[in-house]
Amino acid sequence: MTRWIEETFHPHWRVRLEASKVLHEVKTEHQHLVIFENETWGRVLMLDGVCQLTTSDEFVYHEMMAHVPLMALKAPRRVLVVGGGDGGVMREVLKHPTVEKATLVEIDRSVVDLSLEHYPEIANGCFDDPRCDLVIADGLKYVAETTESFDAIIVDSSEPIGPSAVLHTPQFFADCKRALREGGIFVTQNGLPFLLPDHLAATTRALASLFERAAPYLCTQPCYFGGPFALNWASDAPDALEISVKKLARRQAKRAITTRYWTPAAHGAAFALPAYVQAIVDRALAPPEPAAKPRRKSSTASVTGRRTRARSRTR
Ligand code: SAM
Repeated sequence: MTRWIEETFHPHWRVRLEASKVLHEVKTEHQHLVIFENETWGRVLMLDGVCQLTTSDEFVYHEMMAHVPLMALKAPRRVLVVGGGDGGVMREVLKHPTVEKATLVEIDRSVVDLSLEHYPEIANGCFDDPRCDLVIADGLKYVAETTESFDAIIVDSSEPIGPSAVLHTPQFFADCKRALREGGIFVTQNGLPFLLPDHLAATTRALASLFERAAPYLCTQPCYFGGPFALNWASDAPDALEISVKKLARRQAKRAITTRYWTPAAHGAAFALPAYVQAIVDRALAPPEPAAKPRRKSSTASVTGRRTRARSRTR
């Protein structure tokens, strides 16, 4: 009997994928986890009813999470990934030869173990790379307590629910800022602007209050139904945003990095927002409306109790 597995994140609509085979399903200490096979999408990881990745299109999101910050840095050496226990972002981070150490902080060991068991190609051996430091911990606590500093911090969390909720808070962003080296870059996943504009607005506002620049960028992640998917960028080095396509191409060649989605041109274009997304960002960054002045009671109405008609002068 075919089983259909539903996304349950959105309140008034759902997406179902046919599970030709359920490979693993468990309620871990942190979340509900199911990994299953689907004829179209390959192997699928769903956490707390949200599709996290499929083996057919994971490269899109993992490349855009890793290469947009790292290609914008002259020589990224220390990188922190929060979440991302499937290893996709870490795989892309370690393609950069200047990276000396990349720490991945994942709260749920089951995600790492089951990802390695059922789709090892996503991590592609990254956890065995001597530069990779895997820490099983709450990213919020890790960042609050770390004394290390990083050239880039990449928050590959799930939606702001369950254990991930704390990774979408101003406090967490402030702690990440403190752990960034000068000129470092912070990126985080920021959901579907068409469906969750407030999520993008709140993150942009929080990042803009901490950093010189907050700049959302977009990618087209086929398995994230509901339009373009937003990532958010923050840095005190605005020139990192103005990097030319030519310079990105030179860096890609020098670092000998092959990709399936990220390109120097796609990097720059990702920051070109459609009007409705720009409007969300503009509203988020607009100064708060001045509080409405309390209305003065009009003297005539208060004194006479009657509204007198404004005296009009006829010529
Ligand atoms: N790489 C995925 C993709 O392609 O969409 C993104 C999601 S990844 C699976 C999200 C990870 O964040 C999960 O493995 C989850 O366990 C982890 N996570 C959630 N909350 C966390 C926290 N507070 N600290 C560290 N990791 C957390």
